[in-house]
Amino acid sequence: MPRYQPIDAFQSPRFCGVRTFARLPFVTTTQEVDATIIGIPFDTGVTYRAGARFGPAAIRDASVLLRPYNAGAGVDVFGTLSVTDSGDIPIVPGYIEDSYERIQVGLKPILDAGIIPICLGGDHSITLAELRAVAQRYGPVGLAHLDSHSDSWDVYVGRIYNHGTTFKRAAEEGLLDTSRCIQVGMRGPTFDAADYDVARNLGFALMPNDEMRRHSMTEVAEIARKRVGSGPTFLSFDIDFVDPAYAPGTGTPEVGGVTSWEVLQLLRGLRGVNFVAFDIVEVLPAYDSGQITALLAANIAYEMLTLQCFARSGRKAQV
Ligand code: MN
Ligand code: MN
Repeated sequence: MPRYQPIDAFQSPRFCGVRTFARLPFVTTTQEVDATIIGIPFDTGVTYRAGARFGPAAIRDASVLLRPYNAGAGVDVFGTLSVTDSGDIPIVPGYIEDSYERIQVGLKPILDAGIIPICLGGDHSITLAELRAVAQRYGPVGLAHLDSHSDSWDVYVGRIYNHGTTFKRAAEEGLLDTSRCIQVGMRGPTFDAADYDVARNLGFALMPNDEMRRHSMTEVAEIARKRVGSGPTFLSFDIDFVDPAYAPGTGTPEVGGVTSWEVLQLLRGLRGVNFVAFDIVEVLPAYDSGQITALLAANIAYEMLTLQCFARSGRKAQV
């Protein structure tokens, strides 16, 4: 059995105890760990509503409902993987570059040990620091980016670092193999007609919502899988990819998105991709209703762990 597993709900009811993700042990060891959950509660990179600093706590709170077996995917998640909760990286509120440094320092030992981090944001600006850490370990990576925004602006109010510029910076810094990057789900009004061209000119494939809607979620996943290929890949999930009816607790909502069920279908279709790190960002509990956004985010992190189960058994099969 895996070394680190959640507390058994048949011994202690799920609402008991201090909140960690899925009631996993809060330990910072890098020994005998396949994947770890890590909070990055930074939210002063936003351009609209603030408050995603409370995202990790809200996701952990909602995650106690998760059970070990992913019946939809047919995988015993916590029977396959040894998973810990590493707690939060102590970011510096209001100071993005200092926070970036701390995020890199925090992720380095995890990545060096070959552990798969699942980062809970925080706003989407944190992904740049995550990618810096990931590229240091793996070199330029592929990217599957699910979001209603491309986050590829050059500057915003004269500043180069915020949640709207993340992927332009990442491409400029050589953290991404742009020939293996795809952005999916872009929608809503933009500042001008050429907004998406910025991302395309960087070399990203971009599939806006209207184009995505012409396919089934399984087909969308297939297109993404082909694009990212077999090399090391980062999966970045902005919760505003989902319709605000299903995920109201977020900072920059856009109408006309997918349902919770479609999210599960899409993620399950990404089985087999060589993901080396994940994040789920932009959960803003103050605007949430009945914990629905946090619960969805917890389930998305759970699907990310599920994907890792397939990667692990795939590696085993090759030996
Ligand atoms: Mn985003
Ligand atoms: Mn977004």
